Amino acid sequence: MNEQTSLPRLAIGSLGGTVSMQASTLGCGVRPTLGCDAQLAQVPQLRELADLEVATLGLLPSASMGFAALLDVLAWARAEVERGAQAVILTQGTDSLEETAYFLHLLWPFDAPLVMTGAMRAANQPGNDGPANLLAAAQVALAQDSRGRGVLVVMNDQVHCAARVRKTASLAMAAFRSGCGPLGDVVEGVVVYRQAPARRKVLPLPHCTEHRVALLEVCLDADTALLQAVATLGYEGLVIAGFGAGHVSGGWSEVLGQLVPALPVIVATRTGSGPTASASYGFAGAEIDLQAKGVQMAGQLCPRKCRILLWLLIGTGRQQQLHSWLPC
Ligand code: ASP
Repeated sequence: MNEQTSLPRLAIGSLGGTVSMQASTLGCGVRPTLGCDAQLAQVPQLRELADLEVATLGLLPSASMGFAALLDVLAWARAEVERGAQAVILTQGTDSLEETAYFLHLLWPFDAPLVMTGAMRAANQPGNDGPANLLAAAQVALAQDSRGRGVLVVMNDQVHCAARVRKTASLAMAAFRSGCGPLGDVVEGVVVYRQAPARRKVLPLPHCTEHRVALLEVCLDADTALLQAVATLGYEGLVIAGFGAGHVSGGWSEVLGQLVPALPVIVATRTGSGPTASASYGFAGAEIDLQAKGVQMAGQLCPRKCRILLWLLIGTGRQQQLHSWLPC
């Protein structure tokens, strides 16, 4: 609390994305130009809710964000909580939000909420959703029930868990979904949770950050040239977005068997929902064969989040614990 205003302290950092974009030249498309102050100017109600600490941390399209920058953002957010912020909000592009949110979720050590939001329509477009999303994010961030849930993604008046949320539409306003449904909704400015906070494990900060984890998707009649190159190119982990319940061709299965002694391999499903199987299919390239070769099945975790998890586990020397981090 700020003693003079008795409003809770809320730190808001902006990283770029459509929420920060507008067109400066007609016909040239929108680009990130609005810093955090300019984004907040569209939501004057925020200053009635909280004493704001504001920072422009970046002006990037989210496809160009990276792990090193995210570790800096995490350090900023942690410092804000240590200085007394009740919660932290980050605005960023929606394209990689499902990955950045999970990355931060695995490293966020506080009960204080870290809430992430963005926009599907740029600031200069009619009906732009950035201001409404920002206001909803603040209402979620300041709600007592949001504590202890790690990183939350708030879009379109829905609250999603960072571990489950996915961008499932390229341009629609309702672009985010979670397999088990949203954690809650924002109704008339009040957050109503439908799910209790899940128990979560937090990783320490990675002590090495130079390693790389590859992500390859299977497809019909794919050769194994790229797969074989993974180890020789120096990748230290591999995630496969597999067919159906986590399957690959017989040829890919053979190569994965050769790779496993050298690096951890996870097979997830490319379908977009549901878990990988563990004991249903017995053909070459299915889960029973793959597990016998030492491949880890991803369970509920989507391929992109698997890659984030594996990168952080390798960075903290915990790749041996991979199995215990994969939700069944
Ligand atoms: N279309 C994206 C967005 O919604 C652009 C980005 O991710 O930066 O923000």
